[in-house]
Amino acid sequence: MAEPARERLLVIGGDAAGMSAASQARRRRGPDELEIVALERGSFTSYSACGIPYYVGGVVADADALIARTPAEFRERGIDVRLGREAVEIDPDRGRVRVRELDGGAERWEGYDHLMVATGAVPSRPDLPGADAAGVHGVQVLGDGIEIRRELEARAPRRAVVVGGGYIGLEMAEALVMRGVEVTLVDGAEQPMRTLDPDMGALVADALRGVGVRLRLGERVEGFDTEGGRVTAVRASGGVLPADLVILGLGVRPDSALADAAGIPVGPTGGIVTDRRMRTGAERVWAAGDCVETRHLVSGGPVAIALGTHANKQGRVAGINLGGGYATFPGVVGTAVSKICKVEVARTGLNEAEAAAAGFAALSATVQSTTRAGYHPGATAMRTKLVAERRTGRLLGAQIVGEEGAAKRVDGLAIALWNGMTVEEMTGLDLGYAPPFSPVWDPVLIAARKTAERIEEDMRGTAP
Ligand SMILES: Cc1cc2nc3c(=O)[nH]c(=O)nc-3n(C[C@H](O)[C@H](O)[C@H](O)COP(=O)(O)OP(=O)(O)OC[C@H]3O[C@@H](n4cnc5c(N)ncnc54)[C@H](O)[C@@H]3O)c2cc1C
Repeated sequence: MAEPARERLLVIGGDAAGMSAASQARRRRGPDELEIVALERGSFTSYSACGIPYYVGGVVADADALIARTPAEFRERGIDVRLGREAVEIDPDRGRVRVRELDGGAERWEGYDHLMVATGAVPSRPDLPGADAAGVHGVQVLGDGIEIRRELEARAPRRAVVVGGGYIGLEMAEALVMRGVEVTLVDGAEQPMRTLDPDMGALVADALRGVGVRLRLGERVEGFDTEGGRVTAVRASGGVLPADLVILGLGVRPDSALADAAGIPVGPTGGIVTDRRMRTGAERVWAAGDCVETRHLVSGGPVAIALGTHANKQGRVAGINLGGGYATFPGVVGTAVSKICKVEVARTGLNEAEAAAAGFAALSATVQSTTRAGYHPGATAMRTKLVAERRTGRLLGAQIVGEEGAAKRVDGLAIALWNGMTVEEMTGLDLGYAPPFSPVWDPVLIAARKTAERIEEDMRGTAP
């Protein structure tokens, strides 16, 4: 009997999604059955971008610690990683990708039987004068983190401006504060962390001010002053902010341009559309990670949420399927955690504005409680807000701001959300209790109780 022909999997993007897919496919199909080639235009594979702020701040001493697996380790497993190679065109009809060598510019076509697109996200960069000056940094890939830390160590900047108050802006502000840099954070919105409702975002603003970060909220950045090609100040709508270092944290969008140009369907969020098995609309082309859109399990709509947790899971699902197995990615509920120095921030599901936009009639309740029994040393205040559907009482979302031990309580809430629980049902959840971990009524239970009361009052028409 003739040997089955060896197939070829080409992966574009050598980080979380791409290499999870490659690794899973390799586990299921050996090199005799499946050749795996991964193209990465950068210099690293499988690194933790999530760790960059902690490397910049000095919590993580060495950039190597952020690398989960090197190209050499992948090669040992029969995955041919090629660094400095950029995919510049996908030709799905002929099953091939045009690849450019970044040192030299030579180009060649590489054929595939299966293609995995894992190109990640593109960070927003303002098209403003001076935005490309030295000292203005985006934070997207490990190389950015290495450059920022090098600059901190070599130039000891005194003043930094962080543009954008999302979680990356927040974490980078923390890193700079830890380095003793004076930090100003500029954001066009009236609050940092727009993924939270304004009342919870205000607590994050307080936390930033509490560690000495100056906030310029509701201000637009209009340009960057430079001297000898280096940034010296940020021009904001409210005035000029002197800066030796600027960090851009303006959000990202899916890097779907290659796929789009090849006619692979892209959805309303700009992310590549896939089915649950991570197959795109083109035959034998798969996609995962920040470059795809997925389904929000509460709103039901498509979302592009750039998080490593999704990239790894989706990559794994694609890899299992590519390896001949069966796996699906069900969607997300939008859970995220972050911190600014001592203050932890978490959210899951929909905030009030998102719930309204998704068509839910919602109400909310917010409770102030403590992370541990009030009498236990180390108990600190935390605020928990739940958003629930009127009448049914179905949990729609949750937000938490508090100190150590607060944020990860969101995981229980995410599970409740995932399972479509009502706040009334949640009041009976069997959560762990001992004084060093929580008050006898865990903040999640108190919040569920308060929200259930509000639902009941609302039903009786007595809600305030
Ligand atoms: C500072 C920071 C902190 C973060 N913190 C968290 C966190 O705490 N929790 C969390 O869940 N997520 C976090 N994230 C997000 C997380 O890092 C990303 O969601 C995750 O890395 C996405 O993985 P990916 O494989 O889809 O894309 P990426 O990690 O962006 O990898 C895509 C890779 O593809 C390569 N590539 C792109 N186009 C081409 C091409 N044409 N040819 C060849 N190679 C190409 C890129 O060089 C890149 O290496 C953070 C991100 C940053 C930047």
